[in-house]
Formats: sequence, structure tokens, C-alpha cells
Amino acid sequence: MAKYEGGCACGAVRFETDAEPMMAGHCQCRHCQRLSGAGHLTFAAFPEPAVKITGKIKYWDYKADSGNTATRGHCPTCGSMLLGKTSGMPGGIAVNLTSLDDPSKVAPQMVFFSAMGQIWDQLDPALPKFPGMPPM
Ligand SMILES: [Zn+2]
Ligand SMILES: [Zn+2]
Repeated sequence: MAKYEGGCACGAVRFETDAEPMMAGHCQCRHCQRLSGAGHLTFAAFPEPAVKITGKIKYWDYKADSGNTATRGHCPTCGSMLLGKTSGMPGGIAVNLTSLDDPSKVAPQMVFFSAMGQIWDQLDPALPKFPGMPPM
């Protein structure tokens, strides 16, 4: 069994890695709000070559609020958003923490785009907050 395993809601897409996350955080940008259906999206970034994905993923691109080109990957069957990449983090792939089989295995360390956060979406006050993208 790999160290971290996860998948989409219907089970058609699965991923696993033995790598440790490069970073983990919450993102309150408007794209993450719309994609998650909630106030933020919570993710962990891994080195992309270390993540093994099985099943078909539909990717699409957009211009992120940071100015970077962002790519998101969804299961075409159930629509779950699983993966994200950005030109601001080459070589990394972000995995939604909620898609892990055990999301408690990784603790978010910071908040991205806190300036766009909704008043009803209050995160752990102990976490460092960045109004936009933190410096990488
Ligand atoms: Zn699915
Ligand atoms: Zn975001």
C-alpha cells in the first residue's frame, strides 16, 4: 500500500504516492470556491513524477487570479475535482486533500488568497494567511 492513496467520489479515478507533500494549504480564491462548492479548497502538492494515477481524467486550463495558467483535473464520470497544476509550481501536482482515503494524514499549513475569503468561511486563525499566492 502506498503512503497516500485517494480517488474520486465514484472510484473510477485513483491515485497514490509514497512521496511526502511539498506543501499543503487552503485556497480561498474564487475559482476554488466555485470548484469546491464551499468557501475554499484544501490541497497538498506532491512532486508530479511521484504520483501514480489510474483512470481517465479530464483536464482544463484557465488563467488563475495569480496570473499563472492553472490546470484542473476532474473525473469525467462523477465530476470530482481531484488534481491541480499551475505554471507557478512547475514539477508539482496538487491533490485535493478531501480525495485522500484518509484526509487527516496531511495538515494544511497556510491559507492562500485569504483576501477573497468569504466572511462565513473562517479557517484556523493560527495558520499564516496570504492575501494572494505566497512566495514559493
Ligand atoms: Zn469519479
Ligand atoms: Zn484557489
